[in-house]
Amino acid sequence: CGIVGYVGDRQALPLLLEGLRRLEYRGYDSAGVAVIVDGALAVAKRKGKVRELEGVLPASGLSGVVGIAHTRWATHGEPSDANAHPHTDATGRIGVVHNGIIENAAELRRRLAADGVVFRSETDTEVLAHLIARRPENSLVEAVRAALGQVKGAYGIAVIDAARPEAIIAARNGGPVVVGVGDGEMFVASDASALMGHARHVAHLDDGEIAEVRADGFSVLTLEGAETTKATQALEGEV
Ligand code: GLU
Repeated sequence: CGIVGYVGDRQALPLLLEGLRRLEYRGYDSAGVAVIVDGALAVAKRKGKVRELEGVLPASGLSGVVGIAHTRWATHGEPSDANAHPHTDATGRIGVVHNGIIENAAELRRRLAADGVVFRSETDTEVLAHLIARRPENSLVEAVRAALGQVKGAYGIAVIDAARPEAIIAARNGGPVVVGVGDGEMFVASDASALMGHARHVAHLDDGEIAEVRADGFSVLTLEGAETTKATQALEGEV
């Protein structure tokens, strides 16, 4: 339903929670956040409202400068803490948030399970975390691109990897995704309204595009691997 991501030099958690609150008007059943804390993924997720998610965060917060967050509108698996996003692979290195539907999730799930993968949710999204973690590509953007090559469906996604913390990977195929450009920091969101007052410019991904979003800039490829250039536009309005 709603996606927010942050990479920069400020604490990610408050910015992610603020972005989620700005997306609340769209309706959702669960909320969650993943931040890279000391080289590992720290995940908090909860059925219910963003306020309830805040209630299960450690008092000290999650201290880190890269993270992703989600508000879920369940399509595969009931609303529950386990089915809330972000979803992770078995090692807890890859974090994925996803809007939309993966149509061949059941088949991918069967194949992964036959290969020994133990699933911790009923979502279609979790297959993506496992597919990405099992890819051999050195760069995260190439691993995500290859994993998406195995997936059919409509989606907007954001992915982080605790072992490769320099970038958030965002991709769009039927679900809106924008990249927000700040000053030495960058954002990802399913709706530019989540980034008002923070991002100065936004670039709208088109269907079939994947972006590598770093603190100092971003680059975009097609899902076939061709480089493309994206125009950015000023994000109007302050909140
Ligand atoms: N299909 C995913 C799920 O059920 C994502 C739903 C959404 O767009 O929030 O978890």
